[in-house]
Amino acid sequence: MNRVLITGGAGFLGSHLCDRLIKDGGDVLCVDNFFTGSKANIAHLIGNPYFELMRHDVTFPLYVEADQIYNLACPASPVHYQFDPVQTTKTSVHGAINMLGLAKRVKARILQASTSEVYGDPAVHPQLESYWGNVNPIGPRSCYDEGKRCAETLFFDYHRQHNLDIKVVRLFNTYGPRMHPNDGRVVSNFIVQALKGEDITIYGDGSQTRSFCYVDDLIEGLVRMMNTEAGFNGPVNMGNPNEFSMLELAEKVLHLVGGKSKLAYHPLPTDDPKQRQPDIALAKEKLGWTPTVQLEDGLIETVAYFRMLLSA
Ligand code: NAD
Ligand code: UDP
Repeated sequence: MNRVLITGGAGFLGSHLCDRLIKDGGDVLCVDNFFTGSKANIAHLIGNPYFELMRHDVTFPLYVEADQIYNLACPASPVHYQFDPVQTTKTSVHGAINMLGLAKRVKARILQASTSEVYGDPAVHPQLESYWGNVNPIGPRSCYDEGKRCAETLFFDYHRQHNLDIKVVRLFNTYGPRMHPNDGRVVSNFIVQALKGEDITIYGDGSQTRSFCYVDDLIEGLVRMMNTEAGFNGPVNMGNPNEFSMLELAEKVLHLVGGKSKLAYHPLPTDDPKQRQPDIALAKEKLGWTPTVQLEDGLIETVAYFRMLLSA
């Protein structure tokens, strides 16, 4: 049986990954300090003999056994990662060192959930894996961006220096049920605002773009990447290349939810990337992976989730 460790397993993506790997017959150890994750996300798995939950902060060493490690621990939304920026960098950097050390000791394969933020405010569009990025090292987003960049460095140095079996995936904006309602990310913000009849907060003029991937597609990609042949390490972009402006997203959410919300314009946050779209040719070639869920369909599921959450 495959013993799989998932750090950040009680978070948005981690909890869906726990579900998927349990379904696939894995023996799952979920490690989380519950900074942004919650027991509610994995409550339905508690009691399953192949699921184990451990409260632990990855900035401290961890001694467990595993065949595969998915390293997802890190707050992902700007509001959460800027709440305690020093801890955010520590989580990415010390967390990577600890998990890589663990992988080395038990000879496990290890996958890093990196991010499109390593490209910063990109000067190249769409973003290819070979692009080195345009990142501010001292701004409010740097704790996240540079932490993730340093984690990638550590992964590749452990690979070169210790022959570790690594996989690095650069995730682009992903959405779906179990997003945190107060995480400040655009999809959760717009849906929650629309459901409550509040103003939809557009930062800047709303012309900036993002490409949104539905969580089920993303999880499929992560599992495929983990199980590629040894020697293929990435980095691989993973996201949905369909690009939308924030105004288009607001329109779609309002159309689905209905209600009386109006658009309210707010200043654009510092270093907010103007556009972002993954080039996923490599994922298509190496993993045979391509997202299948259209934004409207994914939004329907996500609206249903938040409707349930708000009425509970
Ligand atoms: P999330 O905040 O829901 O999940 C992160 C999880 O990590 C939470 O459960 C949190 O409690 C846990 N965590 C944070 N610090 C920890 C620590 N020091 N020790 C142990 N656990 C800790 O975010 P998510 O969207 O599920 O993101 C998961 C991973 O994917 C993150 O590494 C993130 O950077 C990456 N990612 C996500 C997206 C996205 O759009 N969702 C995009 C790019 C990259
Ligand atoms: N955004 C917005 N209104 C909100 C929240 C976010 O217009 O209420 C914008 C934000 O400025 C950014 C985009 O939506 O341009 C995506 O923001 P998010 O925090 O979801 O992700 P990231 O910036 O990390 O890609």
